[in-house]
Amino acid sequence: MSELSHKDWIGKASAIRFRDKAFIDGKTVAARSGRTFASVNPATGEVLAEVASCGEEDIDLAVAAARRSFNAGVWSRTSPAHRKEVLLRLAQLLRDNLHELALLESLDMGKLVRDAASVDVPGSAAIFQWYGEAIDKIYGEVAPTGEGDLVLVRREPLGVVGAVVPWNFPLDMATWKCAPALAAGNSVVLKPAEQSPLSALLLAELAMEAGLPAGVLNVVPGLGETAGQALGRHMDVDCLAFTGSTAVGKMFLQYSGQSNMKQVWLETGGKSPNLVFADCGDLDVVADMAAFGIFFNQGEVCSANSRLLVQRGIKDALVEKLVQRAAATQPGDPLDPISKMGAMVDSRHAANVMRFVEAGKKTARLVAGGDMVTVNGRGSFVQPTIFDDVTPADPIARDEIFGPVLSVIAFDDEADAIRIANDSPYGLAASLWTDSLSRAHRIAGRLQAGTVSVNKVDALSPMTPFGGFKQSGFGRDLSLHALDKYTALKTTWIKY
Ligand code: NDP
Repeated sequence: MSELSHKDWIGKASAIRFRDKAFIDGKTVAARSGRTFASVNPATGEVLAEVASCGEEDIDLAVAAARRSFNAGVWSRTSPAHRKEVLLRLAQLLRDNLHELALLESLDMGKLVRDAASVDVPGSAAIFQWYGEAIDKIYGEVAPTGEGDLVLVRREPLGVVGAVVPWNFPLDMATWKCAPALAAGNSVVLKPAEQSPLSALLLAELAMEAGLPAGVLNVVPGLGETAGQALGRHMDVDCLAFTGSTAVGKMFLQYSGQSNMKQVWLETGGKSPNLVFADCGDLDVVADMAAFGIFFNQGEVCSANSRLLVQRGIKDALVEKLVQRAAATQPGDPLDPISKMGAMVDSRHAANVMRFVEAGKKTARLVAGGDMVTVNGRGSFVQPTIFDDVTPADPIARDEIFGPVLSVIAFDDEADAIRIANDSPYGLAASLWTDSLSRAHRIAGRLQAGTVSVNKVDALSPMTPFGGFKQSGFGRDLSLHALDKYTALKTTWIKY
């Protein structure tokens, strides 16, 4: 945990050199077209950097560099023990550059620098370390064919992996894709979101410093419709790993079908339910965690607990406690360590969130927040907002708002709770609160969600798979299971 003061962070921020070029084949390069796009600090409206806006030609160059490095075997055919060493060095370099990386995250997309320094950057380092440590402990199989044949089954890297990631956890989302893909021996072309390209560009430099050969990790900042689409349609990309909206996830499936049938793995939207039963024990703990589950990172979390389903008898008491938590979580300067909530990623997204809030004011009961505000007269901030008496069919209870907006829905019994929880196109995560072990197991088994957290919210770790059911996508990030996405099974028959 960083102990820096507000003044310290401001001082460090003013000294940062922003990387504004693409990173292709081990070199920093401008876009071939010379185009750039502005990277803007949403807390102040200031332009941080004019960043290379990669187009088709740049994607071609990056994919060609990745393919060359893969075919040359400079990474793909090195020993897992060597890859481990490099990834462990990279994890340490991320830790050594904690303050700069945390600032890049905060300045680029508005999150609290305190959270970036205590959650995002250490989390990313831990994941590179975890895959580094895992990769030389994974064995293949010998198939039980019987005498006369020796049949080896092992996993090989796929080749060139394209990764397209969003802006809510820029470094972490890049890491969730790159760490397992690189550990497995692939070469990667990473497209960060246009709102948050800066930390990925530093990551690429640090990866080379750690010993990753040129061309193995390329970073191509650019717009989704151009750079993202070019990667999705590229004939020489073997696998495309995506995190973002469900709508764009579906486009990647089409790009694949219309090009080379590359494997596509999607981690898309969510509208995660948080079920609170009357036998939940300490309602203050539930209130603390339910508030954290929706207000952390301004609610810009794919697995945010945005639907609070509460058993009718305790609903009013819990809502009262939540209103107090919301009042204590007002937005502030993201660089001030005492601030409780940061800025929305940009004014356009803030306006989208506010459209839901204004509609909700007509259909449900607003009990906290409900306004867009500025901090020091600048930026796009949304107050922590709670709607009570929401009906399950209301758009604020169905659509992914991706902001600090909580919808509270009452339920009567277990069957009612499960029905409402599963009545969603999404199935990313769910939480439930009960003191009954039987109920916890019974309901966890019935909830359509990739992760169910019992008596906590939104649990995750490098050790556990993360991903969704239904339109929250398929394939899993994190854990050894993520390696399945970036490898193919190779069977070798040997007659003797
Ligand atoms: P998008 O799905 O639009 O963007 C995610 C990534 O896809 C970005 O790198 C983006 O590039 C790229 N992209 C966008 N359009 C295309 C395209 N046509 N072809 C190829 N790539 C494309 O998400 P947003 O960042 O705009 O956020 C919108 C919504 O997505 C949120 O409100 C939320 O619902 C959801 N979301 C979900 C996340 C999750 O973790 N599941 C994370 C972030 C968002 P660029 O940004 O440069 O356009």
